Amino acid sequence: SLDLVDLSKHYGDVVAANEVNLSIKPGEFVTLLGPSGSGKSTTLAMVAGFESPTSGQIFLNQKDITHLVTHKRGLGMVFQGYALFPHMTVFENVAFPLRLRKSRDTDVRARVMETLEAVSLERFADRRPAALSGGQQQRVALARAFVHRPPILLMDEPLSALDKNLREQMQAEIRRLHQELGTTVLFVTHDQEEALGLSDRVVVMRDGEISQVGTPEEMYELPRNEFVGSFLGAAN
Ligand code: ATP
Ligand code: MG
Repeated sequence: SLDLVDLSKHYGDVVAANEVNLSIKPGEFVTLLGPSGSGKSTTLAMVAGFESPTSGQIFLNQKDITHLVTHKRGLGMVFQGYALFPHMTVFENVAFPLRLRKSRDTDVRARVMETLEAVSLERFADRRPAALSGGQQQRVALARAFVHRPPILLMDEPLSALDKNLREQMQAEIRRLHQELGTTVLFVTHDQEEALGLSDRVVVMRDGEISQVGTPEEMYELPRNEFVGSFLGAAN
């Protein structure tokens, strides 16, 4: 499980995250949903190890990882602007996390091809990212994020740059990976339809705080306060 305990991040006077408490069960798909500036990326960045909390702790399977450097957390991530390596082929981009872990060469080849097949990109293994469409690049980024079968996949608005068709296709792929591999997913979006469609539980954030947590059904039926109700209703 992934446990965030009283997690806060201050940037000078700005309280980007304020005593966030959240427990995510193994295999759960949890989405942070909220308007711009509500603290979603800051929270995810602390879990990833990109930002250190001002206070509070992060536990992965009961182990305190609050001060562990990013690559030792063993998480998979798809962040905006967390770009592909332009000089490497698709194959080498996806192989990168395995090479970092010094996997055997034969194992690397098999795993990379299996992972590229999962996102329907096996035919593109020898291309460079520049020769792919935006959606194909996103799929490479997704493949690279889960090639080492991380226990947890962190995704910060991974689909926001895609058009509607491609976004729906990627949503289905992410859901399938989550189900087939049992990967725990912590997802960030400001798109409520996406959040409600993908998640086991949705965490609504506002001003750095969690304002509501619940299943998609609960979110529709029992909005706890006016903000949650109007925010969820806004895009309908
Ligand atoms: P968006 O939907 O626009 O991506 P978000 O919910 O991800 O928004 P955050 O990026 O977590 O929001 O930002 C939360 C608050 O913290 C904002 O007020 C933002 O301006 C502030 N903030 C984030 N990063 C920094 C930083 N490096 N320095 C100063 N303030 C920051
Ligand atoms: Mg953000």
